[in-house]
Amino acid sequence: MRKILIIGAGQAGLQLGLSLLEHDYDVTVMSARTSEEIRGGRVMSTQAMFHTALQHERDHELNLWEEQAPGIDGLGVSLAGPDGSRALDWVGRLDNRAQSVDQRIKMAGWLELFEDRGGKVVFHGVTTSDLDALTRHYELVLVAAGKGELVQLFHRNPDRSPYTSPQRALSVSYVHGGGRRPEHPDMDAVRFNAVPGVGELFVIPGLTLSGPCEIPFFEGIPGGPLDCWSDRPGPAEHWNRMRELMRQYFPWEYERFKSADLTDSQATLAGGYTPVVRHPVGTLPSGGTVLGMADVVVANDPITGQGSNNASKCAASYLDSILERGDQPFDPQWMADTFERYWSLADPVTRWTNAMLQPPPEHVMNLFGAAQENEAIRNRFVNGFDNPADFDNWFLDPVGAEEYLTQVN
Ligand SMILES: Cc1cc2nc3c(=O)[nH]c(=O)nc-3n(C[C@H](O)[C@H](O)[C@H](O)COP(=O)(O)OP(=O)(O)OC[C@H]3O[C@@H](n4cnc5c(N)ncnc54)[C@H](O)[C@@H]3O)c2cc1C
Repeated sequence: MRKILIIGAGQAGLQLGLSLLEHDYDVTVMSARTSEEIRGGRVMSTQAMFHTALQHERDHELNLWEEQAPGIDGLGVSLAGPDGSRALDWVGRLDNRAQSVDQRIKMAGWLELFEDRGGKVVFHGVTTSDLDALTRHYELVLVAAGKGELVQLFHRNPDRSPYTSPQRALSVSYVHGGGRRPEHPDMDAVRFNAVPGVGELFVIPGLTLSGPCEIPFFEGIPGGPLDCWSDRPGPAEHWNRMRELMRQYFPWEYERFKSADLTDSQATLAGGYTPVVRHPVGTLPSGGTVLGMADVVVANDPITGQGSNNASKCAASYLDSILERGDQPFDPQWMADTFERYWSLADPVTRWTNAMLQPPPEHVMNLFGAAQENEAIRNRFVNGFDNPADFDNWFLDPVGAEEYLTQVN
């Protein structure tokens, strides 16, 4: 039995750990927190996941909350005009349902499932010096510890990382009691609201500890009015401030949320981070090597809601590479090749996400405008969240965009 150690009990680490157990690997996960601490802790994400990533979970019978979670059938786009009213407002339909299950539920549940299915769990916040010793006891050590301190083992790759500072100030609340959605009362959809120069407000239907909820999520442009969380307000003040900002900048959403309440005392989150792609192989002082995965090596801004999707795709891709390796050593060249295979999926996501952080260029405004009248454009944009590589030939390319518009009009 090959011995594999995974640091980090998140989407990537647990999905990979659970899928390796099916193939008789001896897998240990080291987690900084117990399942009870995860369940009782702060929300971590908005975690909207689309079909391809959800299918990877289904492939390993990890889709434990599919029946309870609200099915997300589309994505709506609202763009404010200069007078603050909505210049654009449309919704596209997803070919396959998306969903968002609070990571507190999912990661706590998966951690318990991992132990039930025979995996070993060690509860410990791992340090670099721990890793140095650990590489001697395992054939492969994967670092799936998200954006925490262990990323320092993996050097930033400047060729793949255009940004050197956070591009958005993030702020999230999980709430119950949002009013009826007037735009499409019969369809649960993610809403993507943008105010040029200010930022974005997403609203994601999700499942949390107390049942179905909605997750308003601000992406504030640095220095702008939505970038106001450095005083770390308590939960009640956090939600009041989000509502007040909605009233000013997204009044159509404020109408729905003015009477909504937080789902629990840990239902708010604020912060920000620099989007970065790192070199995948970390070398420890003793010469041992470790392979980074998911957010450790590719951390995009959540503006496109892709990090959990990427983490799932990374776990599926690394599983294939590990299985195909058979009994051969997991050496640094294999690690680099394993990452490049995943990067072929993450590269289009990264380019699209980094583009979405910039003011929309003219061809994108033309596409969004034409989408108001044309269902095919709406649906193509929305389904790109499941298959971001599709954006290359039209959404990210002015010439391709023009050709596409000619074709569909
Ligand atoms: C505000 C916000 C909204 C988001 N919305 C979406 C969205 O809608 N859709 C989407 O797909 N993605 C979204 N994301 C991104 C997504 O949450 C992450 O990309 C995803 O969780 C990454 O998974 P991971 O397994 O790499 O890391 P994580 O989920 O961060 O898991 C890492 C785990 O490692 C543990 N850990 C850390 N350090 C150590 C250590 N030293 N020792 C042991 N354990 C350690 C952590 O406690 C954690 O459990 C969002 C992110 C944010 C911040």
